[in-house]
Amino acid sequence: FHFINKKPKGKFIIRLSRDMSSIMKGAKSVARQLRNDLGIRMGETTPDGMFTLEWTSCIGMNYQAPAMMVNNEVFSNLTPPKVHRIIEDCRQELYAHRPTVGNVGETHASTLSYASHEPNAALNRLVQQRMSPADVSGELTVSGLKGRGGAGFPTGVKWNLASKAEGDVKYIICNADEGEPGTFKDRIILGKYADLVFEGMTLAAYAVGATEGIVYLRYEYTHLRPHLETILAARRKANLLGENILGKPGFCFDIRIHMGAGAYVCGEETALIESLEGRRGEPRNRPPYPVEKGFLGRPTVVNNVETLATASCIVARGAKWFTSIGTERSKGFKLFSVSGDCARPGVYELPWGMTVQQLLELVDGQGAKAVQVGGYTGELVPASQFDRVMGYEDLGIGGSIIVYGQGREMLEVAENYLEFFIEESCGQCTGCRIGNTKLLDGVRLLQKGTCSNRYLNDLIGLSHSIKTTSKCGLGQASPNIFIAINEHFKEEIMARPVLAA
Ligand code: SF4
Repeated sequence: FHFINKKPKGKFIIRLSRDMSSIMKGAKSVARQLRNDLGIRMGETTPDGMFTLEWTSCIGMNYQAPAMMVNNEVFSNLTPPKVHRIIEDCRQELYAHRPTVGNVGETHASTLSYASHEPNAALNRLVQQRMSPADVSGELTVSGLKGRGGAGFPTGVKWNLASKAEGDVKYIICNADEGEPGTFKDRIILGKYADLVFEGMTLAAYAVGATEGIVYLRYEYTHLRPHLETILAARRKANLLGENILGKPGFCFDIRIHMGAGAYVCGEETALIESLEGRRGEPRNRPPYPVEKGFLGRPTVVNNVETLATASCIVARGAKWFTSIGTERSKGFKLFSVSGDCARPGVYELPWGMTVQQLLELVDGQGAKAVQVGGYTGELVPASQFDRVMGYEDLGIGGSIIVYGQGREMLEVAENYLEFFIEESCGQCTGCRIGNTKLLDGVRLLQKGTCSNRYLNDLIGLSHSIKTTSKCGLGQASPNIFIAINEHFKEEIMARPVLAA
């Protein structure tokens, strides 16, 4: 129905981000201004067909929240007067000539270690030292690099498995479907260090014997595509992509970009592959895993943007450099996207092993009430546990940190997360499709103070059922927030006039 009943869109499609970081920074007052200026509600188009107004999930601009897209242009640090001016410019057809309000590319990007990486140093080393495919995946295995998308599977092992998988055609996919609310590190990497990502894909292709690479770019990052195509063209010209590259006869590899369509679940690798094959983005049953049977049934490596960029640095500098950073079980550094109630939001490159408290001091978020570590599917850490360590031995996570200051309502946080998961569920599993809707009903009853203790316990039971009956990470993690606030902020929930059973 969602697709069949699609209404016609206006000339200017305005999508306002409604993730928690945006809500905390005033997205609701911006939405009010937009509704007043346009005379329509969210989801509607003006009668003259000029404007369509929609909520959307995170667009990767949380450090400059609130933010919105007008068609494919990004506007950030919005206030009601600013959006009023943007609407006026659109009406006067000045829109095409105005610069975007925020700077979408800068945020500590020059301090990342990627900045000191010599262009194509990894590929040069591969040629000069005559590294074999096994040498390349071996270097990564020794480095201990784990997938930076959140799942944490060892990268060298994945490449090795794909190299051994049977098949004369193999693929390398760069997962650039960065849809986790609060995460914007991959957008920064693609904007500043795309060469490193393409170099990482080429290394992976050499290691596994792949001939084609695909960047699956999230729809909300359409504005990055011309920049990425320019870099790909330059690499082809430099004989770093195409036929017989790196002076190795028979090594043919090229990369193309495929645009996503705005579905969060396509960040899950098998849903991404379904989408690439032209079907609805729905997670597949596993096994078989993509390294054996992925895109078009062929062995496929799917790696996150950050993983590929980091792999280039490791092959260039050697595994020893990487293992000298981090902890025993968590090697190297990690990029974190920090947003919410802190004075210095942005992308930070940090060694594994820091505590949550140390991170808060760095971003000037001391005195926080709680921190969401690892995005909406991650873990809510209360102030009493700020000595917990970020690393695979404790909080082994993706790259999103959302700081919640004192005074933030935890039920509002849970409501926002559940609305997101309901919107993004692909609908295959009953628990995820229906259970989360029931859970959201319960959260709203709790907000009104009209939820009995017995019902509250039923909701906790429901949360565990959703976790165990869901096929993919979305459903499995969706009730985490409700379970966490019951565990850590029960008093806050019970302080409302909950009716006794
Ligand atoms: Fe789809 Fe949710 Fe099931 Fe994942 S858990 S496959 S998103 S219904």
